[in-house]
Amino acid sequence: MPITDPIYRSTFPPSQFPAQDDHPSPNSVIPTASYKHDPTNLLGVDVFQLEHRPVKMQKRDDAWICPVSSKASQSKKSVKDMVQPIVEMMQLGCHRPDGKNPISLATADPTMPHLSPCTKALEAVVQASMYKPHSAAYTHASGTPEARRAIAMHHSFPERPLSPDHVIVTNGCSGALELALSSLLDPGTTVLVPQPGFPLYEEIATSLGAHVVHYRLDPTKGWECDLDHLHEIMLSEAETVRALVVNNPSSHGSVFSRQHLERLVDFAFQHRLPIVSDEVYGSMTFGSNKYHPLAQVAAWQGRHVPVITTSGLSKQFMVPGWRIGWVTFHDNVYGSLRHVEEGAHRLAQTLHGVSRLTQAAIPTLLSATTPGLSDWKEKHRAALERQGMLLCSSLNDCFCLKVGPPQGSMYALASLFCERLDDSIQNDMEFALRLVQEENVFVLPGSTFGAPGTVRVAFSASEETLELASKRIADFCRRHAKHSVAPTRVLGV
Ligand SMILES: *Cc1c(COP(=O)(O)O)cnc(C)c1O
Repeated sequence: MPITDPIYRSTFPPSQFPAQDDHPSPNSVIPTASYKHDPTNLLGVDVFQLEHRPVKMQKRDDAWICPVSSKASQSKKSVKDMVQPIVEMMQLGCHRPDGKNPISLATADPTMPHLSPCTKALEAVVQASMYKPHSAAYTHASGTPEARRAIAMHHSFPERPLSPDHVIVTNGCSGALELALSSLLDPGTTVLVPQPGFPLYEEIATSLGAHVVHYRLDPTKGWECDLDHLHEIMLSEAETVRALVVNNPSSHGSVFSRQHLERLVDFAFQHRLPIVSDEVYGSMTFGSNKYHPLAQVAAWQGRHVPVITTSGLSKQFMVPGWRIGWVTFHDNVYGSLRHVEEGAHRLAQTLHGVSRLTQAAIPTLLSATTPGLSDWKEKHRAALERQGMLLCSSLNDCFCLKVGPPQGSMYALASLFCERLDDSIQNDMEFALRLVQEENVFVLPGSTFGAPGTVRVAFSASEETLELASKRIADFCRRHAKHSVAPTRVLGV
């Protein structure tokens, strides 16, 4: 479907649009765009197929630039911008002379043909749209009563039931993070975010004018939070810090033990910090790694620490495009979150809530008694575990990569030993770029989210695709082995 120019301009990132500041040259082109399913849709963003058609440009002799708000201009450069060169190369890679099809192990969109969305979710939305005329009406800005009740039940623990009043349904888990951080942060305040970590925390905080301090995650301890570093940060930042952001299970595949979460709660109590706990992956964990909601750990510890949990349907039920997430407020015994929570409800009202239609799936998906649901969830979890084992073990066989067994979510972070590769590959960005050039396989360079010297891989693709990708990566590394290094796995790595 051709898209008219103004919509196109507002939809398409400026980096892809012909520069507006320059006077157009006579042979300038204006692209028209049409939507197309694209296997190189790496970052879960709708990709428009560009057809360049020459048009007659009008000469522009005045300059009219609207000032941008500080919120918009303070926004940090997104990961998408950083990996743009790789994305572009991959898009070109659809028609390569060597016939290698593009394979993305970097995708943020987990939907794959072999991992289809939960059918129960689809049925619930169809039912609502056909048979519940109310699903087309406005609803409470904080979410429909049914959805909030289901979410509250889902985040209730024997130690601590949660009432629906403490739930706000949001535009994906991203919207939940935005709402939580907007309710906590002011310009000049500080938030502690994990490094490596999901880049959105920093993007939101910076757009709010807040100061971001990264605390280290320790690669030698399965990417646990470095508590010494956290304490050290508090020595200098204590005055301004408003919150600690924790992500578990994480977008690089780690799952924290109960003991580690207890230590985090102790830290938060010692410094009187609320915790924003991003738990969008929920119980997508493998082997002996178990998911412990942080709010439950805080309840076990006597409810001294307030926890704001963010989560959603996107990853756990494979419906990221539905944009359904939520934030839950688990206050402590002192009622510390009172004002923050009230503020969040007020902010939610300015947004008028999220799609009522997709909210209709929430009660079905979060109910323990929906027939067939637990089978679907287990099948989904087990498929990811199998795929993760397959990818991680083959990457680990590669002499310049090291990665432990997958723990959870759908990602793993592999350490990259560039010193074992020839001089054309000095760092993870070059590794990722050359891998696309030569093998048409896309991995996310760790530098894009604060972990230089690593590459992040997703294992949501099918086993067949993962096998092919692993083979290409192995060929690539062998070809680039430094001559002094034997092109086999180096022992003791
Ligand atoms: C994908 C993801 C989100 C955002 O989830 P949406 O529901 O798609 O907005 C938040 N946090 C982490 C760690 C993620 O990986």
